[in-house]
Amino acid sequence: MAGPQGGDGADGASILGLRVHNITKDEALDRIETLLSEERGHTVFFVNAHCVNLAWGDDRYREVVNGADLVLPDGTGMRIAGRLLGHPLRDNVNGTDLFPLLCERLQRLQAPVYLLGALPGLAEKVADWIRRTFPRLPVAGTHHGYFTPEEEPEVVTSIAASGAQVLFVAMGVPLQERWIARNLSATGVRVALGVGGLFDFYSGRIPRAPLWMRRAGIEWVFRLLQEPRRLWRRYLIGNLVFLARVLKARWRGP
Ligand code: UDP
Repeated sequence: MAGPQGGDGADGASILGLRVHNITKDEALDRIETLLSEERGHTVFFVNAHCVNLAWGDDRYREVVNGADLVLPDGTGMRIAGRLLGHPLRDNVNGTDLFPLLCERLQRLQAPVYLLGALPGLAEKVADWIRRTFPRLPVAGTHHGYFTPEEEPEVVTSIAASGAQVLFVAMGVPLQERWIARNLSATGVRVALGVGGLFDFYSGRIPRAPLWMRRAGIEWVFRLLQEPRRLWRRYLIGNLVFLARVLKARWRGP
């Protein structure tokens, strides 16, 4: 296992105590395919600078992420941190870019998917997008992400009854990771992924940043401009706090 600053194993890196797999998108797809072939539930999470900040003060969330089968490094903050801590990350494996590639792979494997999360109606719109784009990928079911604790068992039962092998949970960090940790075995799926705001993008509710911004690694600026009241603290303060902690860890050394 990695050390607290930036140590790593063969394909692992630890960014401020949060373990990530230092792999490419293609390798991530292969790993997920392997996880799908094993008859038990697995967890796949994406980790960005905001997640590292959350984990700093949330032991339970950190434990859940560090116990996951696959943790994928998402965004420019992670790239900068990896470089500063002496463990350059090989790829930016964010959920939004990986999603269509994963759907293509799952279509080939004929692995039914269930979409859980976001505002009512959006998961169904993402299902429509899948049906249009990957017509042979079975969508086993959808459910929005705003249900009460009392309704949770009903949601879990509907996922289990759907026959889904892959579950996308888009309820935001750290709610979705906790939800998956709590319910994975009861859902009966083989792979559950926490995918944050993914359904907002693929339903068309929120447009994605133009390609040049994504290539420049500043998609977060676009997101901040879209929802400044909700996101200013996360991005403006959060990014500075993240960078300060990374620099401090670098200063201290391994
Ligand atoms: N969400 C949800 N249930 C909740 C709270 C949030 O389904 O109780 C959804 C919300 O509608 C949005 C997503 O979770 O689609 C969170 O998006 P965000 O971009 O904030 O994800 P994060 O970056 O926090 O993972």
